[in-house]
Amino acid sequence: MFMANNPSDSIKLPIYLDYCATTPVDTRVLDKMYPYFSRKFGNASSRDHSFGWDAQEAVEIARSAAAQIVNVSTSDIFFTASATESINSAIKGIAFGLKNKGNHIITTSVEHSAVLQTCWFLEQNGFEVTYLPVNDDGNLDLEVFKNTIRDTTILIAVMHANNETGVIFPIAEIGRIAHDHAITFFTDATQTVGKLAVDFSSLNVRCAAFSAHKMYGPKGAAALYINGIDLRKNIVPLIHGGGQEQNIRSGTHNVPAIMGFGEACRIAQMEMDADREKTAFLRDLWERELTSCITGIQINGCLNARLPHVSNVSFPDIEGREFIRRINTIALSTSSACSSGTSGGSHVLKAMEKSDSSIRGAIRMSCGRFSTEEEIRFAVGECKRTLQ
Ligand code: PLP
Repeated sequence: MFMANNPSDSIKLPIYLDYCATTPVDTRVLDKMYPYFSRKFGNASSRDHSFGWDAQEAVEIARSAAAQIVNVSTSDIFFTASATESINSAIKGIAFGLKNKGNHIITTSVEHSAVLQTCWFLEQNGFEVTYLPVNDDGNLDLEVFKNTIRDTTILIAVMHANNETGVIFPIAEIGRIAHDHAITFFTDATQTVGKLAVDFSSLNVRCAAFSAHKMYGPKGAAALYINGIDLRKNIVPLIHGGGQEQNIRSGTHNVPAIMGFGEACRIAQMEMDADREKTAFLRDLWERELTSCITGIQINGCLNARLPHVSNVSFPDIEGREFIRRINTIALSTSSACSSGTSGGSHVLKAMEKSDSSIRGAIRMSCGRFSTEEEIRFAVGECKRTLQ
């Protein structure tokens, strides 16, 4: 039976190194949420009393913080329950809204399943989708991308950064090309907002998704950014009902979660530089220590365009899932949480044409605001002992 190292008193086991899957709620965020479960429990759509007004005020404070962190107008932010919902609303909404202009969508082969499954659904409903390949470091070839644009292309959906490798895509260039061809550009920014300085207004991004629980906010709140009234009018809503969120997303607001989302955005914006510096240091330490003590480690993904807190490495001669099962003191993952229940290995590493053994041995480490150097050193030690 595998025995753990003796951790020092300051380390609490198990150690969480799966911040890409979700993050713990920051206690400052929790403090802001509490009153909206009890004392201020009103429905944000109740117009006739102070309970409703308080709830509505909270939603608008949060909207303003969510708009600020991506530098867009407050009126362009719509609340949903998850990035998955925002992605579905955007892609299906735009596809059905613009179907009289064309039926072609461009995306990438390494998107999150929320995008891929939505595109597969659309393919069964009369749309044509091009899935762009990536090169062996997980990035896109812009010439290949340009050559896929057709007269019938109505939507380009390319993620901002990949959730398995952390590779950051050139969305400024993609936005410029989309703008030159007058094609709507949507980006899934679930892994970047709160981690990188994101400015949608200068990037020609017309529509985007991001989520509270990836940035120390609660589960159950996310944003759909839609730039301008013209595009909004062209989006067919996914959910019909009471007309909340300007008819884009009906349903009673989850006020505590939305309030928490807003506070998470405010804190992330304030602490972004410190978070980035810290996690990049820890990520580099993880990779340096691992490669120095275990031979044959391979780092997956473009080293000079990566999220600061994500490391995807392939261990030699062991299956990632078996490795993770043996290290029960550290929470790592083999791929994204949403596809880790599926078999056959990472679709992202497959698209990068990694060897079968690299795909089998791949593990994602993602650290965050509450990770420490001691935890990383302990985790590396555990990896080494597990392989012995
Ligand atoms: N897009 C990316 C890139 C993600 O990493 C995730 C979650 O892992 C999602 C979308 C889905 O986010 P949510 O859990 O808010 O639905």
